[in-house]
Amino acid sequence: MKSKMKAFICRGPKQFSLEDVELGEPEIGEVKLRVLYAGICGSDLSIVHGRNPFASYPLIPGHEFVGEVVESKDDSFQAGQIAAVMPVVGCGECESCRLGNVNRCRKVKLYGVHMNGGFAEYVLVKAKNLIPFEKPIQPNQAVFSEPLAVGVHANRINGTSQKDSIAIIGGGIIGSVILKVAKVLGAKSITVIDVIAERLERSLLLGAQDVINSSQNDLRELSKNQHYAGSFDSVFDIVGNDETLDIALDLLKPAGKLVLVAVPSGEKRNIDVLKIFSQEKVLTASRTYSREDFIRALELITTHQVYPSDFITREYPFSSIDFALDRAENSKNEELKVIVKM
Ligand SMILES: [Zn+2]
Ligand SMILES: [Zn+2]
Repeated sequence: MKSKMKAFICRGPKQFSLEDVELGEPEIGEVKLRVLYAGICGSDLSIVHGRNPFASYPLIPGHEFVGEVVESKDDSFQAGQIAAVMPVVGCGECESCRLGNVNRCRKVKLYGVHMNGGFAEYVLVKAKNLIPFEKPIQPNQAVFSEPLAVGVHANRINGTSQKDSIAIIGGGIIGSVILKVAKVLGAKSITVIDVIAERLERSLLLGAQDVINSSQNDLRELSKNQHYAGSFDSVFDIVGNDETLDIALDLLKPAGKLVLVAVPSGEKRNIDVLKIFSQEKVLTASRTYSREDFIRALELITTHQVYPSDFITREYPFSSIDFALDRAENSKNEELKVIVKM
């Protein structure tokens, strides 16, 4: 007889509930993980509300989770071990996968987006996607390694160094982890741009030297004025619309780098290639992370270079996950990262 578990199931846009569902058995190379903590991410909200082009319903969302192995069909793990899950799964055969860049695999899949994820009491995951950790690091800290890995990767793509003046368009959780990792890497100055005053206050606490509230200032004007125009080595764009991309190009120094971090909606964007060509500016992108980035993120937490408590603003029990999702969606001024204790 198959055992049952509680899971948060999304059956389509805005159709979700906590249900008792059957729990499968791990296949060779997989483990059954008892989820301890899960983080709520913008992409979970987009799945729940039907804004995510990659989601296939019915689905148990949640790609930020840590847990305890309760059953293992892989020699490298045994019951009782605690691990974070690197949720990006590649085909394992293409050149990107072979080089360790699974995030660039054409057949890439994520737990919680393409396959069932961590908003459940248990989840089946490939053992090779587990990143073990030990005390004194706690599961409610390790759960932050996933969003932090996004910041590690974006800064690796940028090649952030101590010489860099950086601008970040979008001061939510992704902008904040990029800011924090850039600080750890010793970036010379960091400017954060957002429309929400509370986020900008938090950015200053996290080490930004300058913030711009673009709901009170005309960003287009600012990007042309002497102080800001052509003054950044890199701009991370976490908004990614026609306007922010164009403004980002104006903010860059000659040969500066525009790193697109926003997940494109699928619409084509208008980019003024003359602005790129005339000063040899570089447009690149940062998508999720590699296993190496994920391990580095966990290490930043273990070595106290990053404190998850600076980012995690609220914790809910699993039974209140609908409140947690609502909070993350509708209280963006107060919440940065909401987590759920299973
Ligand atoms: Zn995430
Ligand atoms: Zn591949």
